[in-house]
Amino acid sequence: LIRFDKVVKRFGRNVVLRELDFTVDAGERVTLIGPSGSGKTTILRLLMTLERVNGGVIWVNGDSLSHMRRNGRLVPANEKHQREVRKKIGMVFQQFNLFPNMSVRRNITEAPVHTLGISREEADQRAEELLDMVGLRQKIDAHPTQLSGGQQQRVAIARALAMRPQILLLDEVTSALDPELVAGVLDVLREIARTTDITMLSVTHEMAFAKDVSHRVLMFDQGRIVEEGPPEQIFGDPHEERTKEFLHAVL
Ligand code: ATP
Repeated sequence: LIRFDKVVKRFGRNVVLRELDFTVDAGERVTLIGPSGSGKTTILRLLMTLERVNGGVIWVNGDSLSHMRRNGRLVPANEKHQREVRKKIGMVFQQFNLFPNMSVRRNITEAPVHTLGISREEADQRAEELLDMVGLRQKIDAHPTQLSGGQQQRVAIARALAMRPQILLLDEVTSALDPELVAGVLDVLREIARTTDITMLSVTHEMAFAKDVSHRVLMFDQGRIVEEGPPEQIFGDPHEERTKEFLHAVL
C-alpha cells in the first residue's frame, strides 16, 4: 500500500533520509521507533505532502505522491493529484490541531462535507458513531477549549477517521498529554487496531503500545532503518547494538 523507493530528504545540508526503502502492506500496522532527530516524523510529513522529497519516489496504492501518469509517462504531480492521493490518508498530530472556534461536531464533519461531498445528515451520523467509539458522544456540542488534552486527542482521532482513510498516520499522539490521560487515548487506538483493518503507521515512544498493536517495528537511526522485525523480536531479542542501546535508554 505504501512504498518508499530510495527516498531522500534534506533540510539545507542536513540529510534527514538517505535513500530510504520500505513498504507497508494493506492492513499492516507498522511502528517507527528510534532516537530524536532520526527522521521518523519527516516520513509521516512526506506522506501527508507537508514536505517534498528531494529524491526517490513515494508510492501510495500504486500512485506516486510526487508524480502522476500522463499519456503513459510520469510527470510532476499537480495539486489535484496530490489531494486525491492524500484523501486515502488521515493523520493525528502530537498537538491535536483541532479548529478552536468550531464545535466537536463541526471539527469532525467539515472535511467530509466539503471534500468528500457527503450530506450534513450523513456526516452527523458518522460523527456520532465515531464519538461513541472514542467515548465522547456527550461532548458533541462542546468546543475544544472545554475538553481535556486527552479528550481533544480522541476527537482528533475521530476527525481523522471521518474521512474514511485507508491509512492512519499517528505522530507521537500521546507526547503532549499529562501522564494520566495517555492510557485513554492508547485504549482507543488499541480498539481501532482490534476492530478495523485500517493500515497504521505510527511514531511513538510508548513501547508497550508499540508491542501490543504492531505487526512490525522499524528501528531508525540517522535516516536509515537499523533493524526491523516483529515486536516480540525487536523488544525481546534485538540483534543490533544500536537497537539495544536505544531500548536500554527508553525502557
Ligand atoms: P523526534 O522524535 O524528535 O520528533 P524524529 O525522528 O521524528 O525526531 P524528525 O522530526 O523527522 O525526527 O527530524 C529529523 C531531522 O530533520 C532533525 O535533524 C530535524 O532538525 C530536521 N528537520 C525536521 N523538520 C525540519 C524543518 N522543517 N526544517 C529544518 N530541519 C528540519
